[in-house]
Amino acid sequence: MSHRHFCDYAGHDWECDGLALRPLAGDTEPSECYCLRHQVPMERGDHSGCPVELLACPEHREEQLQQIGTFDPKDLRPSVGSERGMLHDRDGRPIVGFCLWCGKDFYSIEEAEAHHANNSKRCVAFQRFKCRY
Ligand SMILES: [Zn+2]
Ligand SMILES: [Zn+2]
Ligand SMILES: [Zn+2]
Ligand SMILES: [Zn+2]
Repeated sequence: MSHRHFCDYAGHDWECDGLALRPLAGDTEPSECYCLRHQVPMERGDHSGCPVELLACPEHREEQLQQIGTFDPKDLRPSVGSERGMLHDRDGRPIVGFCLWCGKDFYSIEEAEAHHANNSKRCVAFQRFKCRY
C-alpha cells in the first residue's frame, strides 16, 4: 500500500512506495518511511488518517535542495541582482539591483560598483555590520 507525503516545496501531495530520500535530514540513501504517530513503517498497516510527512517529492527534491543550497550565510554580501530579471524600485523605475545591506536601489552597474567599491565603503549599513563583528 502506498502512502502520501506533502511536497512543501511546491505545495502538493504525492504517492510514495515506502522508501524516500531525505537529504535535508542528511540522508544520502532512501530510507523507510515511518508513521510518526504509530512508530511503525508506513507500509505496515493503514495510516491514511495519520499525519502526513512533509517531504519534497522526487520531482522537486533537487530544486528544493538547490534553493536551500544557494542560501549560504557566507554569501550574504552586497550583490547586483541583475540575474533575477527586471527589478523595479518603489516608484516602478527599472533598477539593475539593490544593496542587500542598506536597501539602496541602483540605476546603473556603475552606481552599484561605486557603492560596493573599497569594501563597500559607501554603504553605511555594511560598515556598521563590519564594526560589530
Ligand atoms: Zn514515504
Ligand atoms: Zn499511523
Ligand atoms: Zn513536488
Ligand atoms: Zn548599501
